[in-house]
Amino acid sequence: MEQIGLYTIAYKGLKNGSYDFDFKVDSALFEAYETEEIKGGNCDVRITLQRSESMLELNVAIEGTVICECDRCLEDCDIPVDYNGDLVVKFSDETDYYDGEVMWISPADDMLDLTQYIYESIVLSLPYSRVHEEGECNPDMLASFTEITEEELEAMEAKAQEEDVVGLDDHNKSILEALKSSLEE
Ligand SMILES: [Zn+2]
Repeated sequence: MEQIGLYTIAYKGLKNGSYDFDFKVDSALFEAYETEEIKGGNCDVRITLQRSESMLELNVAIEGTVICECDRCLEDCDIPVDYNGDLVVKFSDETDYYDGEVMWISPADDMLDLTQYIYESIVLSLPYSRVHEEGECNPDMLASFTEITEEELEAMEAKAQEEDVVGLDDHNKSILEALKSSLEE
């Protein structure tokens, strides 16, 4: 993955103390992960790293916007990203563990790679419902949805229930709910 290397910190050469790092996230990161839910974006990442003998303590702030499909009109919409989190990095040869808050890396590693952490933090910070602000949806798209007949909707629901057995994810469920409510309006 070409993105690996862009979001790394060469911590080995740092003396104990506090350091700031700035990174830029653009669409290439989301393309690298081949995610369908995020189509692009631009974010600033500010990392404050506290280096001590036994661990690294990081505060990570991510601000910007990503482009998602609007749940209501299915057109692209900008979703603001405002993430702030703490990450502790500890050293061990025996543990390869990462739970979102604590990461273990080998003391032999010279670099701390934050690509995965930054990507996941952006994804997790997104709201459950991704929609344009009121009145900004594409009216033509909305109009085409309301032309769905009762019959078509029932067929979709039946299909969704069928798929539920094998697992329809919550995001798709919310899209179906949005379609239902637009029909009822
Ligand atoms: Zn919309």
